[in-house]
Amino acid sequence: MTARPADAPEEAIPGSYTLDSKLAGALGGRTAQAIERAFGYVTVGELLAHYPRRYALRGELTALASLPLDENVTLVAEVIEVRVREMRQRRGSIVEAKISDGTGVLTLTFFNQRWRENDLRPGRRGIFAGKVGDYRGNRQLAHPDYELFDDEVPIEVGDAAAKRWAEAPIAIYPATSTLASWQLAKSIALLLDGLGRVDDPLPASVRENRGLLAHRDALERVHRPEREPDWKAARRTLRFTEAFVLQSALLERRAALRARHALARRPAPGGLLERFDAALPFALTGDQEQVGAEIAHDLGEPVPMNRLVQGEVGSGKTVVALRAMLAVADSGGQSALLAPTEVLAAQHLRSIAKMLGPELSAELIPTLLTGQLPAAERKKALLRAAAGQSRLVVGTHALLGDTVTFADLGLVVVDEQHRFGVEQREALRLKGAEPPHVLVLTATPIPRTVAMTVFGDLDVSTIAELPAGRAGIESQVVPLAIRPAWRPRVWERLAEEVALGRQGFVVCPAIETRVAEDDGAEPVPGETEGAGPVASVASVLAELGEHPRFAELRVAPLHGRMSAEEKDRTMRAFAAGELDVLVSTTVIEVGVDVPNASVMVVVDADRFGVSQLHQLRGRVGRGAVPGLCLLVTGAPPNSLALQRVEAVAATLDGFELARVDLELRQEGDVLGAMQSGGRSSLKLLRVVRDGEIIADARAEAEAILEVDPTLEGHPALAAAVRRRLDDEASGYLSKG
Ligand code: ADP
Ligand code: MG
Repeated sequence: MTARPADAPEEAIPGSYTLDSKLAGALGGRTAQAIERAFGYVTVGELLAHYPRRYALRGELTALASLPLDENVTLVAEVIEVRVREMRQRRGSIVEAKISDGTGVLTLTFFNQRWRENDLRPGRRGIFAGKVGDYRGNRQLAHPDYELFDDEVPIEVGDAAAKRWAEAPIAIYPATSTLASWQLAKSIALLLDGLGRVDDPLPASVRENRGLLAHRDALERVHRPEREPDWKAARRTLRFTEAFVLQSALLERRAALRARHALARRPAPGGLLERFDAALPFALTGDQEQVGAEIAHDLGEPVPMNRLVQGEVGSGKTVVALRAMLAVADSGGQSALLAPTEVLAAQHLRSIAKMLGPELSAELIPTLLTGQLPAAERKKALLRAAAGQSRLVVGTHALLGDTVTFADLGLVVVDEQHRFGVEQREALRLKGAEPPHVLVLTATPIPRTVAMTVFGDLDVSTIAELPAGRAGIESQVVPLAIRPAWRPRVWERLAEEVALGRQGFVVCPAIETRVAEDDGAEPVPGETEGAGPVASVASVLAELGEHPRFAELRVAPLHGRMSAEEKDRTMRAFAAGELDVLVSTTVIEVGVDVPNASVMVVVDADRFGVSQLHQLRGRVGRGAVPGLCLLVTGAPPNSLALQRVEAVAATLDGFELARVDLELRQEGDVLGAMQSGGRSSLKLLRVVRDGEIIADARAEAEAILEVDPTLEGHPALAAAVRRRLDDEASGYLSKG
């Protein structure tokens, strides 16, 4: 036998791997380990789904002048000069090679590697990878990795071959500092050579109708295209496949859930729900009626409900959810309401008790159960839940704990879905003797294709109509980069509102300068640069403290580093009108309901996401008093950051904003907080761009699962779904 790498596997028989084979067996332990460390991939299928980020051509050169400093780059260039010199201070040599794209020049440096001089001959082209550094004003790559293209253009075999060689796209992979693009390419080529049979997850008819490639062919062409049309066709196939497998996974989960038995929960005639409805001080909106009917229908079936209700802040979701809980209580069951934070749980409990009124409250015993309750209270709450005495338990994550049991859990309501995922919903489901019904509420309007992708296992109801009698919100951008003189006016305006007997919020991206709120602002693409320090609760408090108009006003902070008790006390005081202005982080983002609050100032508004700003703004204008929202930003004129803030000021339509948000965000952030990313995030699919593909794939998947809900007759698809779900277990949709 000829030389074999020391760690090559003993029994690497070509044609013998499947997508589920371990990389260690296929590539050898050391390489497999490096890949697992870099990307978390363990199987052949996972590495083969590491698709090239782009394709370069041998004839193409990368624009060197625009290389970003301190970034890892992979580029195609030509060697123009190479020389060796001795170091002056100590023994040793430096090889310096200059590479060029025809205009810019970049220097490569190597210490004590004289042999590079012969390797990097002028005129040779190759791919170079490394971190862009700066040496005395010149761009350079120190000790880059590179791979030179073969000098040997196969001229002997004729022009056609030479042309083919020049036209063959070179796959450029997402790489790391330890694994260069071409090292990945080599490993992937080994896998493709050794890959045995690959079953197609797409049924033949689905594939043929759309002119898609067989799966194996698509993998081959996406990684080793001979010409551009190869990888284009391959990506089209793989993109559809990704959508199709994902939809099948979601629909299969939905089918599996629906195959389980749940207790039907119907309101009793003359019961709790009827009494509640009779006492309700307002008429339900048409949408509330409609969604209420959808929920009532689901609850009345012996199949677990799994429904998402989306509706603007203030659209009246809580009332809808409470009516569902009353229907369940009528049947003798309990409901659990999960809120994302302690503040919101406490507030939910208060507003629910208020809506129920004293009589219904006495019968239902709404009970708070959170992690920060004093031990004695917690014990009491646990008992009430376990004994079935409380038919309405409100809490945070603490409800998921093992110590929490219910006598007869019939319904779980999750408020603000994005902090709770499939796994948490599942954990709660297990707390019922039979799986309880699940209702998820979200105030973040979700465009249809995103809903399909992220919440594809849920049925979706929408409350679009706001209750009548809302005075509305006026939103204004205060662009400090353009009009610095407006800054003092902002605080004046806030003080004026307070002088009218109203209250206001100031929302900041951080608690202290340089300390970001932990459950606060989502990371925002295209950060404002050079806009000075981030405004914080501390800095705004200091600023207001010096402002003459605020000397007499009652101003208090609210943020995530305060204890639950302090936060709760502050919120109560604000709700009771004992405070004029709350200076807070995004802890007030969801659910806080103070009808007298009329003005909100968001400082450094560009630091928040579009949807988040919209959510925040929903805190004012909730009563009869018109709301005013001032979005203060130092973002430069014409910047993307300023555009995002302007988009929020321009419309109150949450669905429109969700769409704008998706368009203005970078692709990678599309699923935002709903998706944790990582190794199992979407690969080729983009929810904005690929809406049609997703809808098409869902329809096909629906048709298949309709007749084959367990995918028994579609083993290749079932295997692809299982792989997808394995991935998910490590993060993905679980954040959904
Ligand atoms: P959401 O949870 O969707 O943000 P809420 O259920 O908290 O909205 O409702 C916001 C406010 O509107 C509450 O004070 C609630 O009592 C009130 N409300 C709800 N539905 C109606 C309605 N149909 N008519 C008038 N007011 C309503
Ligand atoms: Mg609410």
